[in-house]
Amino acid sequence: RQLAIKAIAAPAQTDVKHALRNVKPQLLINGKFVDASSGKTFPTENPATKEELIQVAEGSAEDVEAAIDAARDAFDKGPWPRMTGRQRGEILFKLADLIEENIDEIAMLETLDNGKPFKYARTSDVPQAIEHLRYYAGFADKIHGKTIPCNGKMMAYTYREPLGVIGQIIPWNFPVLMMAWKIAPALAMGNTIVMKVAEQTPLSALRVGELALEAGLPAGCLNLVLGDGPVAGAALSKSKRIQKLAFTGSTEVGKIIMKQAAENIVPVTLELGGKSPNIICPDANIDEAVEGAHFALFFNMGQCCTAGSRTFVHADIYDEFVGKARERAMATNVGDPFGEGTELGPQVSKEQLDIILGYIEQGKKDGAKLECGGKIKDGTNGYFLEPTVFSNVTDEMVIARDEIFGPVQCILKWNTIEEVIERSNSNEYGLAAGVWTKNLNWMNSLSRGVQSGTIWVNCYDVFDAAVPFGGYKLSGIGREHGDEVLGHYTQVKSVYVPLEEPIGWNA
Ligand code: NAD
Repeated sequence: RQLAIKAIAAPAQTDVKHALRNVKPQLLINGKFVDASSGKTFPTENPATKEELIQVAEGSAEDVEAAIDAARDAFDKGPWPRMTGRQRGEILFKLADLIEENIDEIAMLETLDNGKPFKYARTSDVPQAIEHLRYYAGFADKIHGKTIPCNGKMMAYTYREPLGVIGQIIPWNFPVLMMAWKIAPALAMGNTIVMKVAEQTPLSALRVGELALEAGLPAGCLNLVLGDGPVAGAALSKSKRIQKLAFTGSTEVGKIIMKQAAENIVPVTLELGGKSPNIICPDANIDEAVEGAHFALFFNMGQCCTAGSRTFVHADIYDEFVGKARERAMATNVGDPFGEGTELGPQVSKEQLDIILGYIEQGKKDGAKLECGGKIKDGTNGYFLEPTVFSNVTDEMVIARDEIFGPVQCILKWNTIEEVIERSNSNEYGLAAGVWTKNLNWMNSLSRGVQSGTIWVNCYDVFDAAVPFGGYKLSGIGREHGDEVLGHYTQVKSVYVPLEEPIGWNA
């Protein structure tokens, strides 16, 4: 359960400024921080204050080409794919240690750039990124082929080989965590990487890139390009020179990426959007379910792909639940993301804020009942929204169908298990779901019946590096975490060897 993350002391302003000054705001290509070839830069903004934090290099297609050259060279001629898995693992363990040594600084960058409360960045995002790196560092020397009995005087065995240069494109909602999810398995398997970091949140990735060099990652193994999606991102996804593309972001962009990669038969894995049902049964402990459903939706200001954005509550407890959900939302501490008790910071950008306000208006127009919130938080300067709760939401409303990606809880009513399964599945997404009950039969029926890649029972948003994660339907293709992801970063080579006179062997 992650519901009760402790308060954590706010960092000193001088430390925050130091963290920002310590970032090298350039592209990381071939082991060096360099300006964009055009010399262009773009500002990255603090969403809590709307102030410019720093100008960072704006990568173009030319820079992506240079990064691919570096990754290609590092793969074809460099030590990384040639060293033993154990040696690679040691470097990844070292990177995890260095991130841990600099955990405060990286968490500060995450909060400055993204607006997420420092206490979550410090106790959840960065520690999970470290866990991920360690998990795959441990896997680096445990991947191997098989010997396979053949039909005849023949033996065969397989190698699991790295693919080559991997293109990776990540979003802004969990910058350092998404980076770790992507780089850890790809590097552990001996690949080299060109990563396009989200334009809204480049800072933590740059610091981790620098620490990777310090950990001993050879030049060219991890290249970071910043810049616009349709420019730098598209140059990567259109490239013939990458062997795989891994994308996390919206379903809309995922479709574009897949089409572009298809032109070159580049395999893709996609981690996309969601509209996850969170199903509260009539026997659930109502206070725990209210708190769990609140966390499932409002965590990270609602900017989670897994957000429990359709809160399905059984008719018997609906009114009580709605009253308590409204009280809980109204009691939420919204404000300075560095504040000790802050639960909700700003949305990441004006663009996101406006999209969410548009959905709130649509919800009102469609006849949902606004229980609380619905507007910009009074007295704030950044992109802060009041936590918003809608009741009487019905399936056909836009707010019940689209991924809002903001702090807007939509509460729907259900009557039978069959009905709630059918309604949960009537959405085109299938990323995650929650189930709140003590009844084992209901738990089993809902867990088996709901079409989604992850089901959380009496908890929400629990992630473990060892447990597969990914989407059904329009929520994606492929899996991250555990050993499931390793197949996406390796290819199998089969070797046949004739055995003319096998002696003493009949397998
Ligand atoms: P987005 O799709 O707008 O952008 C994601 C990345 O793609 C960014 O780096 C962006 O610059 C790049 N991009 C944009 N247009 C591109 C193009 N034409 N070609 C190549 N690259 C392009 O998504 P976002 O707004 O950054 O993130 C929010 C979305 O991410 C939500 O839909 C959320 O559900 C999803 N998400 C999914 C997961 C998951 O694991 N399933 C995790 C986090 C976020």
